[in-house]
Amino acid sequence: MIPVSFDYVEATSVEHALALFAEHDDAKFLAGGHSLVPMMKLRLVSSAVLIDIARIAELSYIEDRGDHVAVGALTRHREVEGSALLAEHLGLLAHVAGHVGDPQVRNRGTLGGSLVHGDPAADLPAAALALGASMVITGAAGTRVVPAAEFFVNFLETAVGDGELLTEVRFPKRTGDGWAYQKFNRRAMDYAIVAVAVQLGQNPGIALVNMGSTPHLATAASAALAAGSPTSVIADAVVEGTEAWNDANATREYREHLARVLTVRALAQAGYTS
Ligand SMILES: Cc1cc2nc3c(=O)[nH]c(=O)nc-3n(C[C@H](O)[C@H](O)[C@H](O)COP(=O)(O)OP(=O)(O)OC[C@H]3O[C@@H](n4cnc5c(N)ncnc54)[C@H](O)[C@@H]3O)c2cc1C
Repeated sequence: MIPVSFDYVEATSVEHALALFAEHDDAKFLAGGHSLVPMMKLRLVSSAVLIDIARIAELSYIEDRGDHVAVGALTRHREVEGSALLAEHLGLLAHVAGHVGDPQVRNRGTLGGSLVHGDPAADLPAAALALGASMVITGAAGTRVVPAAEFFVNFLETAVGDGELLTEVRFPKRTGDGWAYQKFNRRAMDYAIVAVAVQLGQNPGIALVNMGSTPHLATAASAALAAGSPTSVIADAVVEGTEAWNDANATREYREHLARVLTVRALAQAGYTS
């Protein structure tokens, strides 16, 4: 379908983007456009003005900051997937980025866009949750930092308010710790029917894809993992607090079964032996 007509303006810096937003009624930021434009074409979303932030160079980087790696919000999935720095210190993140859609999607889509879109079926939000990331949000009132566990507040709704930008995502380094991502889908480029991200080490995390209305941090299972519980106990705990829905791909019961099975596989793949 064809979207409702809109005006287009291009921002050249964070300040410029915020100023453009303040100038226009009913504006939205456009990054890679790979979630926003399909939603506009389906007429699920409309906006009088799109503020294109994709070419703000200051928001595209992957930087070693000692105890963490900072990734600019406009860094493309392809750059995350191919980063040697991330492969060394945050293998889960680089690997998960390689599971987003197909090469075309990964060449355009951005880490920040995927996180702000907040789709419970998306891959990268689960990685951010399992890794205990922090989101840096910038608006007219200044900058604030929100933990990933508090970032996804409702269906397609995050802590990023109207007129605010997600500018950076900080990932604590996980050098040498085991991790795994188990994505169950029909075809390689599809969204997950269910997926499980596991990060071992200090502050271990387990996060789920498509098990409710938001990307889901499995807190009970993560606590069981931190306590060194047997794999079967962790797998049973993983569905606690989930609200998976029934759709054409799977029933709620089937999704819960998948979450348990994929958790067992992910823990084994990550090298968890309890
Ligand atoms: C064919 C296809 C297959 C796909 N498959 C998958 C898949 O398997 N797994 C998966 O996880 N995803 C998949 N995606 C989605 C893809 O990952 C998108 O790139 C991503 O969800 C959105 O990123 P974007 O940069 O394109 O954001 P956009 O579409 O430009 O924006 C998405 C939303 O975030 C807002 N926004 C974007 N950046 C910022 C920012 N920095 N600050 C504040 N607001 C911002 C926008 O206003 C908009 O509301 C697929 C997409 C397509 C088209």
